[in-house]
Amino acid sequence: MGILEVKGVNKRFGGLQALGDVNLSVAENTVHAIIGPNGAGKSTLLNVLVGKLIPDSGSVMFDGQSVLGRKPHEINQMGISRVFQTPEIFADLSVMENVMIPCFARRDGAFRMHAIGSVRNEGDIIAQAEAILADVNMLAKRDMLASALSRGDKRRLEMAMCLVQEPKLLLLDEPTAGMARADTNNTIDLLKEIKEKRDITMCIIEHDMHVVFSLAERITVLAQGTPLVEETPENIKGHPKVREAYLGE
Ligand code: ADP
Ligand code: MG
Repeated sequence: MGILEVKGVNKRFGGLQALGDVNLSVAENTVHAIIGPNGAGKSTLLNVLVGKLIPDSGSVMFDGQSVLGRKPHEINQMGISRVFQTPEIFADLSVMENVMIPCFARRDGAFRMHAIGSVRNEGDIIAQAEAILADVNMLAKRDMLASALSRGDKRRLEMAMCLVQEPKLLLLDEPTAGMARADTNNTIDLLKEIKEKRDITMCIIEHDMHVVFSLAERITVLAQGTPLVEETPENIKGHPKVREAYLGE
């Protein structure tokens, strides 16, 4: 049994079958990539996993519990976090304060900006935030304003804000889309560092094969809403079904 078990999921948008009988099993503490041509249903599947879309049928089990019918924030509290394509950070706050906000949110069940004022008394939260910043190599920049960070460091900060919620499953939708090669490689390194330091499962949707082959242990190929193959990176290269799916791209 994987930490994430998707069985027989279907989703239609009017006459279009965006997901057709999707089965997916993601093993705990692995990096699992979902690849496929444009329009294959990758983002739709991700939206089902985070509770933004309700499938027409099928089941989604995470850590032994059903995800379906739960609201996005409830699914987040179960341990599923999604990393957004554009960093969503608070520009006028320090790096440290940015990381502390999700800590308070997690404890209090809501974002409470006024909690920042009492931050100094929160030894446990400070220690937790520092540990995460160390993991993403940002501890030396803890007092910098988030707005002053480079693009790469903003991404590290955003990742820290996600990790501080201690997700068991991290979902990444094309984390390197629109990036130059150097930024892409930095993101690959960052994800590798995180994977080495924490017990975490990653499910990554990615178009860039360089990223997929650098990170993934298992790869599921989605085409026209249905999984075609699930394999290791070595076995996916040159797989006839994969080449077929990408023809005409
Ligand atoms: P991918 O992320 O693999 O590129 P998507 O999951 O975004 O694919 O889309 C799968 C198919 O579903 C596409 O044909 C897309 O146009 C369609 N689709 C996605 N979201 C909606 C929606 N909200 N309403 C109607 N059609 C949608
Ligand atoms: Mg997409």
